[in-house]
Amino acid sequence: MSKNKSSESVKVVVRCRPLSRKEESNGPAGGIVQMDLRLGQVILRNPRAPPSEPQKTFTFDAVYDANSKQRELYDESVRPLIDSVLGGFNGTIFAYGQTGTGKTYTMQGAWLDPERRGVIPNAFDHIFTHISRSQSDKQYLVRASYLEIYREEVRDLLDPNHGNARALELRENPDTGVYVQDLTSCVCKSIKEIEEVMNVGNQARAVGATDMNEHSSRSHALFLITVECSQPGPDGRKHIRVGRLNLVDLAGSERQAKTGVQGERLKEAAKINLSLSALGNVISALADGRSGHVPYRDSKLTRLLQDSLGGNAKTVMVATLGPAPQHYDETLTTLRYANRAKNIQNQPRVNEDPKDALLREFQREIARLRAQLNHRKWRSKQKSEQVEDESWDGDQEKEIEDEEDEEVEKEGEDYMKLEEQRLEREKEAIRGDQDLIPDEKQKLLGEKERMMVDLRKEQEATEQLTAKYKAMESKLLVGGKNIIDHTNEQQKMLEIKRQEIAEQTRKEREIQQQVLIQDEETLELRETFTSLQQEVEAKTKKLKKLYAKLQAIKVEIKDVNDEHVRSRQELEQTQNELTRELKFKYLIIENFIPPEEKNKIMNRLVFDPEEDQWKFQSLVPAESKSSQMKKRPASAVGYKRPISQYARVAIAMGGHSRYRAENIMFLELDMTPPNTASVDCSKDGEPNQSPSVDSSPTKEKGVRKSQSWCQTPKSMTSSPSNVSLAACHTATPAAAHGRLTDFSVRPTAGTQTHHHHLC
Ligand code: ADP
Ligand code: MG
Repeated sequence: MSKNKSSESVKVVVRCRPLSRKEESNGPAGGIVQMDLRLGQVILRNPRAPPSEPQKTFTFDAVYDANSKQRELYDESVRPLIDSVLGGFNGTIFAYGQTGTGKTYTMQGAWLDPERRGVIPNAFDHIFTHISRSQSDKQYLVRASYLEIYREEVRDLLDPNHGNARALELRENPDTGVYVQDLTSCVCKSIKEIEEVMNVGNQARAVGATDMNEHSSRSHALFLITVECSQPGPDGRKHIRVGRLNLVDLAGSERQAKTGVQGERLKEAAKINLSLSALGNVISALADGRSGHVPYRDSKLTRLLQDSLGGNAKTVMVATLGPAPQHYDETLTTLRYANRAKNIQNQPRVNEDPKDALLREFQREIARLRAQLNHRKWRSKQKSEQVEDESWDGDQEKEIEDEEDEEVEKEGEDYMKLEEQRLEREKEAIRGDQDLIPDEKQKLLGEKERMMVDLRKEQEATEQLTAKYKAMESKLLVGGKNIIDHTNEQQKMLEIKRQEIAEQTRKEREIQQQVLIQDEETLELRETFTSLQQEVEAKTKKLKKLYAKLQAIKVEIKDVNDEHVRSRQELEQTQNELTRELKFKYLIIENFIPPEEKNKIMNRLVFDPEEDQWKFQSLVPAESKSSQMKKRPASAVGYKRPISQYARVAIAMGGHSRYRAENIMFLELDMTPPNTASVDCSKDGEPNQSPSVDSSPTKEKGVRKSQSWCQTPKSMTSSPSNVSLAACHTATPAAAHGRLTDFSVRPTAGTQTHHHHLC
């Protein structure tokens, strides 16, 4: 699977947009951003600092100033990446920067103006032009998806009911990494189709938002393109390479003001930039290289871009800046952020023959449909041979396989027509035949009619199959076929030349940057001094240079410290507010919710790390289990409720009444003579010694009673539960009577006197 495995760093380019008209009218201060295109450097001036303070310089892979053209940026910095994607690598481009600095302009631009088309439309052109120019043994399948992440919820922008669609979940696949479950993905055959996909998504984005400006500055938009390419390898088998391209327009990187926000709104505000701050943390952790843990799981965005940052992908980051002095802080933050991202190392590799390639499925399905169609044709031909014994060739199937699709279809149609005509002719013949008796004629005609209906059904089925086959096949793009008609040789040459120039510029810049670094390091080695004076001068110059550098770094350290303190204060403030809210909720819970209710709820709560939320465990177990629950547990077969082994034995033994499942009391009338009669109060003073407990009439009665009870419902004895119950009754007369007699023979002193009187 892995090929060309090597490490390469994230490419970072910076682009500065021109001063807007409003900014120009604000004052003569001009921009604070200067760019050295040759060296790839950005020089930032602090408008509030004294002129003596050194300016900040950052070096990047490329920089684009206010006069830069969309095409330049594409050819130099994006084209190589898209080429890699077409070769089976994963690729990511993301635009990072403050709102209004040109992220969307860079990614999308003005579609209709060829000069101002952004990265995405240019990538569409690039991909489909590449396909149309590739060799004809290559087959391609291009798919596109479009989603946005807003308040940590992933939404499908191609879903027709996007507005009320539920948030999608992220899943992880050990082979292909993190993906969005149930995300719509459209197979695109041409530039027009993929542009349509983009438009549909953009409209969904605009419709879903009440305030488009705010929405777009707070949500991340991801356009995903998957290019699968199948090509016969040296082993003769078709190999598939899959390149995935993520085109990401991030939310505005400006700090969200949190002051004065409370409760729900505070949490919301915290969520809005969660993905972005998590992205910052991921970049820091990766750039640092020391910390082992990279917090990808902290947000949806970082999980989705996991491969693009430090994983299997080639990544380009376009940091956008505004030149206005009032945004100095944000601009500096963006530059620092971008500077850090340069240090991230990725390990891109070609994705070869992945298990889930859709192209493979398509190829299989097409082959299956084709085989079905051929079989159908072959069968009809066989049939017609049987009927008319016409001159069809022997080895039909093989011959048909070699035929072109159109011929297959045409022949099929011809055959159907012939068959229909033949049946008509036969019907006519039957009608005209005088020898047949009317009954028989009718029967034969009916038969022919049925054959006609069958034939038509067959024809319809074949047509459907053919349509499906064609639809599937049309989705696969074959190299060499002209998808774009306007490309001619001249244009092709022009493009190649432009690419060469872009390549040249890139190389030149790289060399310049290297020379600069070497200069600093080896200056003194190369210098030979003719006199002491000269040496002093040279060294003083060097000292000054180094001193300036030292000062710059000192300022940098102070800045970073300040920023750190500021963000810590902000975090503490947020924490304080959340703690206050927590205390409030605690107060309510502790004082107004009964503890048992609270415990019930607490016991049912479980934390779902996927969704980062507490959830109630359902009372009824999941569906698969519910049917099990309805079944009688093994311990209760034949009993009304689960019953222990001990209780079962106790029932069988006629033990205590508590082990009886029902009829724990006899409610029939007790016909024994009142045993109060036998208490001789006058004789002795021991009324508790009841002589009737063991008196024979009661015992007999008890036995008889239980027998009669046992005998009456004959049918019931078949059930084991009844058997055991009956057994229990027969065996427990003594106990029952013991209790009955207890009632009557436990007189207190008072009742005793009373009985006596009664007597
Ligand atoms: P973002 O998406 O970063 O919020 P936009 O792309 O919407 O910013 O840009 C804001 C405005 O600036 C738009 O009107 C856009 O046309 C203009 N703009 C941005 N970058 C450039 C550029 N490089 N050249 C000319 N105009 C630009
Ligand atoms: Mg935007």
